[in-house]
Amino acid sequence: MPNTGLINGPYALTNESIDEHIARTSSGVYVLERSRKVGSFVVDYVGRSDSDVNGRLKKWVGKNRYKRFKFGYFSSPKSAFDKECEIYHNFNNLDNDIHPQRPAGTDWECLYCEVFDE
Ligand SMILES: [Zn+2]
Repeated sequence: MPNTGLINGPYALTNESIDEHIARTSSGVYVLERSRKVGSFVVDYVGRSDSDVNGRLKKWVGKNRYKRFKFGYFSSPKSAFDKECEIYHNFNNLDNDIHPQRPAGTDWECLYCEVFDE
């Protein structure tokens, strides 16, 4: 099993739990899991926020049967983007339909594929 490198969690995907565990307003990357099996965390989805990982995660509460999350703070949107791409490419069978998007106005490239090459 690859490792996400996200050290915080797993925690319950509820508004209260998100506020309890994500106190900082910060860029971040998160992964979501549908099952609630104790022990192994199964990565079903990866996402990021460029400015507020707390607020982004709350949009997932109650959706798609996601039950738990893990996350990491990142000091910049670019470092969060790189981590999101890494997880997207390292894990199979994710729910993500499309490759992670780069923020509008940036020319960032994925470190793991050539999706952004013209
Ligand atoms: Zn890529």
